[in-house]
Amino acid sequence: MSYLDYVNEKCIECGKCTKNCDFLTKYDLNLKDYTKREDLKYHCFLCGVCKQVCPLDLDGRNVSTELRMGEEKGFGMMKFEKSPYIFRNNSKKKSKTLLFLGCSFPRQYPETTKALIDVLMENGIDFSLDCCGKPIYETGDEKRIQKDKDRLEGIFKEKGIEKIVTACMNCYYFFKEHYDIEVVSIYEELRELGIGKKIEEDRNIFIPCPDRQTKEVLEDIRYFVPNLKTPFDNVQCCGLGGLAFGTERELADGFVEKLRNYDIPVTTYCASCSGRFRRNEIKVTGHILCEIMDVEEKEALGFLKGSLQIRNYRRNR
Ligand code: SF4
Ligand code: SF4
Repeated sequence: MSYLDYVNEKCIECGKCTKNCDFLTKYDLNLKDYTKREDLKYHCFLCGVCKQVCPLDLDGRNVSTELRMGEEKGFGMMKFEKSPYIFRNNSKKKSKTLLFLGCSFPRQYPETTKALIDVLMENGIDFSLDCCGKPIYETGDEKRIQKDKDRLEGIFKEKGIEKIVTACMNCYYFFKEHYDIEVVSIYEELRELGIGKKIEEDRNIFIPCPDRQTKEVLEDIRYFVPNLKTPFDNVQCCGLGGLAFGTERELADGFVEKLRNYDIPVTTYCASCSGRFRRNEIKVTGHILCEIMDVEEKEALGFLKGSLQIRNYRRNR
């Protein structure tokens, strides 16, 4: 049975998803209604709030993704950049564990990225700067999704990778859900290696969408930030989730305004959220990984500079 049919069969139309989602509220939809709105397939932020509140565990992310699957048109620039990632930096060196940096974090935090690469290489762990494939997955372009997966699996196989360490929690969940390989967060790996600074002060952490349900990465961070708090419950998403920013700009900006109303410094652990908040002049302390690595670095908001800095890092020495 398709997921759309499943939702149609199970949904009791209680309205909880509508009440808790600005997108569903705007169009007066519950998830059952949404299964019939292919025209809105790129309007969902894939945030997962609906699943959290639904008494039957129904998930708008699956509805939206299923509606998207098979669509080859659109997102040309993003596909050009990420499929395959134009700033990728991989090697053929054998390494049982791989530090997978993703595409967003290195671009915005090149100095912290270099510090991570250096310290993990000292521990015999090679690195990959590449895109995990999540943005392409969200377009629904199945041919590209498969091509990207084949390419990354080929790299992992050639290198003899048994474990992936992710610096980005988007990569963390994407690999966990779509690849048959052990995945740990950078925070877990740093703890195991005895690396990283503990932060004793309070930090108000914004939980990014993919970690909202299980909070696995947040719990790994807690080792380094024992006094962390998560007060931003009513903010659905940073606004960049699910490729919906282009179609639902007003809703995306509304999320940021809700965050602004808290009027307290925000700490992030997703590079996309960090960049978005910095651009919108939200008070931020920065990305927690920079603090843990003891690197003073603000988000580089330009597109190219950070990417080019890491493009060939440590490959010619
Ligand atoms: S919360 Fe679940 S059961 Fe209720 S309307 Fe939404 S999808 Fe249907
Ligand atoms: S995933 Fe988020 S944006 Fe999409 S329907 Fe569910 S709550 Fe709404």
